[in-house]
Amino acid sequence: MHVIEHIYINGTFVTPAGDEWLDIIKPADGSVMGKARLANEQDAERAIDAAHAAFPAFSRTSVTERITLLEQMYDAVKSCETDLHAAILEEYGAPSSRSQWMASYPADVILQVIEELKQYPFIQQAGRARVQMLPLGVAGLITPWNSNAGFICHKLATALAAGCTTVIKPSEYSLLQTEVITKALHRAGLPDGLFNIVTGRGDQVGNAISRSAQVAKISFTGSTATGKAILRTAAETFKRVTLELGGKSPTLILPDADAPTAARLAVQAGFINSGQACIAGTRILVPEARKAEFERALTAEVEAQHSGDPADDSTTIGPMINEKQWQRVQNYIGLGEQEGARLLSGGPGRPDGLTHGWYIKPTLFTDVNSQMRIAREEIFGPVLSIISYCDEAEAIAIANDTEYGLSALVIGADEQHARDVGEQILAGRVMINTLTHEPRAPFGGFGHSGMGREMGQWGISAFLEPRAVTVA
Ligand code: NAD
Repeated sequence: MHVIEHIYINGTFVTPAGDEWLDIIKPADGSVMGKARLANEQDAERAIDAAHAAFPAFSRTSVTERITLLEQMYDAVKSCETDLHAAILEEYGAPSSRSQWMASYPADVILQVIEELKQYPFIQQAGRARVQMLPLGVAGLITPWNSNAGFICHKLATALAAGCTTVIKPSEYSLLQTEVITKALHRAGLPDGLFNIVTGRGDQVGNAISRSAQVAKISFTGSTATGKAILRTAAETFKRVTLELGGKSPTLILPDADAPTAARLAVQAGFINSGQACIAGTRILVPEARKAEFERALTAEVEAQHSGDPADDSTTIGPMINEKQWQRVQNYIGLGEQEGARLLSGGPGRPDGLTHGWYIKPTLFTDVNSQMRIAREEIFGPVLSIISYCDEAEAIAIANDTEYGLSALVIGADEQHARDVGEQILAGRVMINTLTHEPRAPFGGFGHSGMGREMGQWGISAFLEPRAVTVA
């Protein structure tokens, strides 16, 4: 049994004032595998005070000093990869293909931030003005459960690169991973107060951070509903806010695409992290003239997936994070059937042979249209919808017929043409025939997918504010 009873404030593991204990549930079988004591608002305020006290000195450090600290952070996080992987498997149930990446990404992303920091133009000349980029102050970093360690390390490294100090509010569904990362960051030996980690309920700890007048910036990744709540609260104190929210991303398969190749990539895009990914390509747009062929190819790909125990190497889709999420996905599968979509694969209930754990049958609907809720709302599970189009103009219109705009994938044989089509889609990231992540490029969404950008130079800028000094 895991027992987590500390949070991290001002360089020290401390017992929270909060006295609520939360069970840690293993999604692979629903069993209780531990418990954690959660922080409350009082703890959040102590953490904010510590970050606030550390800010004046830290904001004056040189880029070279900050690079040294980030290198210490990298070494410490790199050395915890094995423990992190074990926690990810146990706590998220991510299949090994995904969990390996999730375990190595937190260290990798620190290196990426170091590279960006080396090149960041903190001082620029704009006409007669000398423009200085100044750190905003204390940054509140709030993470979702679905890549908690990666988001903690990415947001923290970027905030520190900019010269901000931080209060981190990790997801309460990532307690084991947070503990591994907190211990690693403690070993990194960063000065006290630079990062404080207070795991607690969003409406308590998260809300206290969004409300605090001592916090100048919020960097949040999570659902659109929570993003809206944070934005409203943060408005009172004019916080700068970066929001990385949900998505309902299109995968547009063009008429010249090879069906098996396109189906492989489309299903991979849709089932990233067992479908629990903001960038998952859950709306698959196929040309009406080749609909039957693409339906067959996509069905074959979906049926080749194996939903089951994440410890099993053949598993490609693991369980949902918790019972609530399992129920939510089940409801959407039922809704798809009620709305008149036709089931090609999967459907309600658990996959055959599985009686425990939050497993979903990989599900593929066709005859879906843009008015259906399964085509408009983020399901956050392995449920894909095929929508057919008559011509390219209609395909682009359907791709853009969404409140979201996080990511899009275009698949076609003529790459230049696919790119031309992709450039007509309003999404923060448009990928042509690839799912490769480009860490130097900005990441974020249009519309309800968020505000602002992370990654690359844009990511560092989000923790800074320009001051222009002009001399007579
Ligand atoms: P969530 O919004 O439920 O929770 C995210 C975090 O916000 C948690 O730490 C939670 O405790 C906290 N929170 C909840 N209420 C709060 C409040 N009132 N004030 C402040 N903080 C509060 O999201 P989740 O279920 O953990 O994550 C899944 C969602 O995240 C999906 O919608 C997914 O698309 C999105 N996501 C987006 C990206 C991206 O980069 N755009 C990446 C990953 C996940």
